[in-house]
Amino acid sequence: MSAPTAGVGVRCESVVHIYPATGEDVDDVVALRGVDLDIDAGEFVALLGPSGSGKSTVLGLLAGVLRPSAGRVLIGPHDVGRMPPRQLARLRGSVVALVLQNPSRNLLPYATVRQNVGFAAGSSGVDPGELIERLGLGPLSDRVAGRLSGGEQQRVAIAAAVCSGAQLLLADEPTSQLDAGGRADVMDLLGRVHAEFGRTVVLVTHDTTVASRTTRTVSIRDGRVGAEGMHGREYAVVGRDGTLQLPPDLLEQFPPGTLLSVRRSADGIALVARSEDER
Ligand code: ADP
Ligand code: MG
Repeated sequence: MSAPTAGVGVRCESVVHIYPATGEDVDDVVALRGVDLDIDAGEFVALLGPSGSGKSTVLGLLAGVLRPSAGRVLIGPHDVGRMPPRQLARLRGSVVALVLQNPSRNLLPYATVRQNVGFAAGSSGVDPGELIERLGLGPLSDRVAGRLSGGEQQRVAIAAAVCSGAQLLLADEPTSQLDAGGRADVMDLLGRVHAEFGRTVVLVTHDTTVASRTTRTVSIRDGRVGAEGMHGREYAVVGRDGTLQLPPDLLEQFPPGTLLSVRRSADGIALVARSEDER
């Protein structure tokens, strides 16, 4: 088997994304309002957040399917937001692979597993047969893709992505249409793509159990990075402009507009709400 292609890092700098209004009585949608994100080569990251928070938009920008309205999106050294279409298409076919939510949209349904993975190999130099075996998909190799379960199809799609030599594997809600067993199998495989093949894996989910299988979770809230989780702990993130998002439970207690004094304390900073007697 040829040497595994290592992962590539990605970076979002103050990324704003606006979907322009499609009619006269609708407004533009500001989907991302200043996203800063740094992912190192080889990381295994979940973008976590409620529906409509902007997760798929971040992924679409990383995949080069969308272009940022402002800010920069970098894949390794490449500024994908400003890349000419031709070069971008080449990058999408080699460096970046995107696995979609709907299992049947990732594969050619009438082709076998071996053929699907083989088509993805392109000029990557990876032997599809060996890869299929190594990823434990050998028993499926002669099966027709369209006849597989959703979980099996997603695993084949991931194998195809690895076979293409992609250094960055993006997956948008890859487990949301699967049962618990399928979810576990897909997450196991993504974990191996990260651990054994060193690829950078970024997946989108609204499922905290799925997110807990990664090594880092980035919470997207209302078009911004709200918090990060690592090794079971939650952290608030200081944005490039110095802003800090409160976790949702604290936001309820200290609604927007609340005046807080920020004090340095022995082990960090303390935020103290303006008290009644100060008014
Ligand atoms: P998520 O993946 O977290 O559910 P999205 O990134 O899909 O969130 O969407 C973020 C915001 O952008 C939402 O308000 C959504 O309605 C809006 N949006 C997404 N895609 C489009 C589009 N093609 N046109 C207009 N608005 C969109
Ligand atoms: Mg989405």
